[in-house]
Amino acid sequence: MAGKRPSSHTNVPQVDLAAMHAEIASGVRAAFETIFVHGGYVNGDEVTAFEQAFARFTGMAYCVGVASGTDAVELALRAAGIGSGDEVLVPVNTFHATAAAVVRAGATPVFVDCEPDYLLLDVTQAQERAGPRTGAVLPVHLYGQMVALEQLASLAGRGVQIVEDAAQAHGATRFGQAPGSVGCAAAWSFYPGKNLGAYGDAGAVVTRDAGLAAKTRRLGNYGAVARDDHATVGFNSRLDTLQAVVLAAKLARITVWNEKRRQAAAVYDILFSGCSEVVLPKCMPGNEHVYHQYVVRVPERDRILNSLRGQAIQAAVHYPNPLHLQEAFGWLGHGPGDFPVAEQAAREILSLPLFPHITREQQERVHRAMMDVLG
Ligand SMILES: *Cc1c(COP(=O)(O)O)cnc(C)c1O
Repeated sequence: MAGKRPSSHTNVPQVDLAAMHAEIASGVRAAFETIFVHGGYVNGDEVTAFEQAFARFTGMAYCVGVASGTDAVELALRAAGIGSGDEVLVPVNTFHATAAAVVRAGATPVFVDCEPDYLLLDVTQAQERAGPRTGAVLPVHLYGQMVALEQLASLAGRGVQIVEDAAQAHGATRFGQAPGSVGCAAAWSFYPGKNLGAYGDAGAVVTRDAGLAAKTRRLGNYGAVARDDHATVGFNSRLDTLQAVVLAAKLARITVWNEKRRQAAAVYDILFSGCSEVVLPKCMPGNEHVYHQYVVRVPERDRILNSLRGQAIQAAVHYPNPLHLQEAFGWLGHGPGDFPVAEQAAREILSLPLFPHITREQQERVHRAMMDVLG
């Protein structure tokens, strides 16, 4: 069967959500029918069941479903007591929302470069940039592997909270521990394209801390401590019941899907092993990587990206504009040259298509297309 399926001439998507849906379709339909009958669309038993399952999956005592990953970061920061007057250390190589959530919480982002090997938060620079107003550090477990949180211990010792952005790290561990185990909380996104994705926006905060969990839940539920008893002004940020049953069905498969991602990453590793122009992603010792993205570094990235797209191969760039160069954060006063490692990476990085159901044939097509343009 190898090599002759029509898919070798068709689109190679960035992700294939339809193939994931096909595995859970009948169960999700049945669960939706139940919800259509009982009519509870926000919170409820289905949400509690998913929260408990996700807490177990991460080894945490508490999980609070919220409306998005951005909300999860903001609410976790607020629940940790971070707000106006606080500075929060944030890597510049991440999605915009990481720092946006800091601003929305009323705090000020203090940007930190990434290190060159894994493109994760430079933990040494994070400690150098910490000052008397630093309330928290927000390490981002980018592309599917975790930051070396143990190297932030000296910050934690100075009373700086560690709030983890785990939006790209469902199933990732470091020394066997999931996000949330070192920090006071981990924030998750269940945006459809993440390793664990809903059918719309959704997110969660996990924590070992009962008080922090209770504060997060209160903040996301209009500041209510009990029905019609509002202690503070909060937000409306909760997990929809329909999303919870989708997430529960996918959670039951994520370990297999992550294993398939790792196998696909290993296939790319072998396909590109003879090509010195393509720098392959590395897994930090101690980490279990879940390859949310398979990020290579190449010369003339844009030429390669355009060529791949011209051949219906949906490669992408995560992320082309480091946060300090985004207009939204211009008020922080940074410019080109301030975070050189991230700036250089932004010119070279390329996320190749990788998802649980990618075929060897699709990967070979990506490899051939890359080799063609590299000459
Ligand atoms: C996706 C993502 C977010 C935001 O999550 P949403 O659910 O889209 O709000 C935050 N941080 C990182 C690193 C992400 O990848």
